[in-house]
Amino acid sequence: MTAQKANPILVVGSMAFDDLELPSGTTNDVVGGSATYSSFAASTFAPVRVVAVVGDDFPEATLESMRARSIDTEGVERAPGRTFRWAGRYDADLAGRTTLDTQLNVFATFTPKLPPAYRETPIVLLGNIHPALQLDVLEQVRAPKLVVADTMNFWIQGEPKSLAALLKRIDTLVINDEEARELSGTHNISRAAREVLRRGPRRLIIKRGEHGALLFDDHGIFAAPGFPLENVVDPTGAGDSFAGGFVGYLAGQGQLSPLAMRRAMVHATATASYCVEAVGAARVARLSRADILERVASIRALYDYGASSM
Ligand code: AMP
Repeated sequence: MTAQKANPILVVGSMAFDDLELPSGTTNDVVGGSATYSSFAASTFAPVRVVAVVGDDFPEATLESMRARSIDTEGVERAPGRTFRWAGRYDADLAGRTTLDTQLNVFATFTPKLPPAYRETPIVLLGNIHPALQLDVLEQVRAPKLVVADTMNFWIQGEPKSLAALLKRIDTLVINDEEARELSGTHNISRAAREVLRRGPRRLIIKRGEHGALLFDDHGIFAAPGFPLENVVDPTGAGDSFAGGFVGYLAGQGQLSPLAMRRAMVHATATASYCVEAVGAARVARLSRADILERVASIRALYDYGASSM
C-alpha cells in the first residue's frame, strides 16, 4: 500500500523553537514541537493533516518540507506573535532531561479550527499540547476509529482536570515511565499502568527511552526492545516520533487488530530510533520506508532465539 492510499491521520500538537543543551554542545532555535516530529514520522507511512499554530517567526521552509512529504498544512495557523518555545538540558548520559523554560506564546490564545476536510479523519493523534486543545480538536472530528494521545509532566502537573477529562475520551495513551508514575502516583510500572487504564484509555503505551516501550491492553503486556544504537545525538522528539510512527503504521496497514498494535509498537520503536541520531527533526524529516524496514529487521533479530525449535 502506498502512503497516498493509506488512511489519513490527523495530528495536533506544538510547532516550536527549541533551545537544546546537549552533552555535545548547546544549539538554539532548533525547529521542533510535538506536531512537527509526529507529522514527519507518520508521513513515512500515510498522509497527514496537521493542526497547530505558529508565529510570524516560524520558517516557511519547514512547512514546505512537510508538504513535500504528504503532510497537509492547511490546519497550521500563522498568528501574529512568537512561536511556542521550549528549552531543555540533557544529562551527560542523555537519559534524563530537565525543562528549563516553556513559553506558550501564540499557543496561549490558540483556538483550533479544523478545516472541513479534516473532520472525517479516521485516525487521530493528539500530540503533546494543552489537554484542553487536544479535547477541542477531538470535539471537531466525526467518529474517529482510533484516538491516540500523548502528554507530559508539564500538563500532568499543571492541568490535571482537563487531562482527566481527556483520558475518558481516548483509546490509547502514550507516555514515558516517569510520566506514568507521576500520573498514577505509583512507582511500580505495572501497577501504574493498571491505575492509568482505570482512568479511561483501553490501551497504554509506556516509553522507556533506550530500553524500548511497553504496551498494556486487554491482551496482556507486549514489550518492544529499544535498538542499542552507537550514535545517540539528541533524544528530543523521540517520544513524538514514536507516537507518529505508531499511528502511521496503523494507518498505512488499515488494520487496528491487537496484533497490528504489537507490530505498530515495533515500527514506532524503529521510527524513534532514527530521530535520536541527529539534532532536531533533521533525520526524521527524511525518513523512508526502507529505513524503517531495515531497523525493524534489526530489532526483530534482537529477540530471535529460535524459540519455535525449542
Ligand atoms: P519529546 O522529546 O518527544 O518529549 O518532545 C520534545 C518536543 O516537545 C520539543 O520539540 C518541544 O518543543 C515540545 N514540547 C516541550 N514541552 C512541551 C509542552 N509543554 N507542550 C507541547 N510541546 C512541548
